[in-house]
Amino acid sequence: MKIALFNDFQLGVVVEDRLYDIGPLVAEGRPFHSCPMVDLIHRYEQVRELLENHLREMPSYSLAEVRLRQPVSRPGKIVAAPVNYLAHKKEMKVENTARGLGFFLKANTSLIGPGDSIVLPASKQGRRFDHELELAVIIGKTAKNVKAKDAFDYIFGYTGLNDVTLRPDEHHEEERCLRKSFDTFTPMGPWIVTQEDIADPQQLDMRLTVNTETRQQVNGKDMICGIAELVEIFSHVMTLEPGDIIATGTPEGVSPIKNGDIVKISIDQIGSFENPVVLEREGRGA
Ligand code: MN
Repeated sequence: MKIALFNDFQLGVVVEDRLYDIGPLVAEGRPFHSCPMVDLIHRYEQVRELLENHLREMPSYSLAEVRLRQPVSRPGKIVAAPVNYLAHKKEMKVENTARGLGFFLKANTSLIGPGDSIVLPASKQGRRFDHELELAVIIGKTAKNVKAKDAFDYIFGYTGLNDVTLRPDEHHEEERCLRKSFDTFTPMGPWIVTQEDIADPQQLDMRLTVNTETRQQVNGKDMICGIAELVEIFSHVMTLEPGDIIATGTPEGVSPIKNGDIVKISIDQIGSFENPVVLEREGRGA
């Protein structure tokens, strides 16, 4: 199932070019969480059949009519893998990967959805900002000390993510968490495709274009630590909770984005979304 948040962060299911408003089907009882998607993930096993049987009776819209939002509006956390593709490891001239480095966290307030602007902060003008194409994994069940062989039991689904980054240079070496946590620095979308609908999530073709130029293109099979291994590594440190997001790392081809660019991410079996890049206007926000 393709599950989206749309308009005022309402829950919808996408079938071809239509979005069905599933709010009336799943709104029973007290919510578990303030994010409607996290709430749905908690209830998914109970409501899945209901959704499948009654979807077509729900009010629906053409996809062109709705505003898609980031499919998790307020996750507990965004856990991100550092260098996780061999060619990108070479490009970044680093020795270690997720096995040695672990992970970093991005602020959950950095999330934006399809069509929203990536705002380059005024305070960092003149610095380099990069796009990072990544597959995002959405956790489905509380996960602690999970073995790689069991990892897929804890995954709800997959979506696309851009891990936008302020690059360090010879004069600046901010912590990675700062460089990646500016507001708008985590575009995500266009929706979550649930685990059961993706035969092999480790073998998805992914592409990122800036304007019309392809900058990153990869298949997930080239990850150094695969999806299951990342769940193992991360869940041995921290409890992963329903709705938490794992950004699985970026392949080679990271390159600068600037004011006026349009960044597009496309992932096979998931979908695509775009974000314009704008400069923050000093003192006023975007
Ligand atoms: Mn990254």
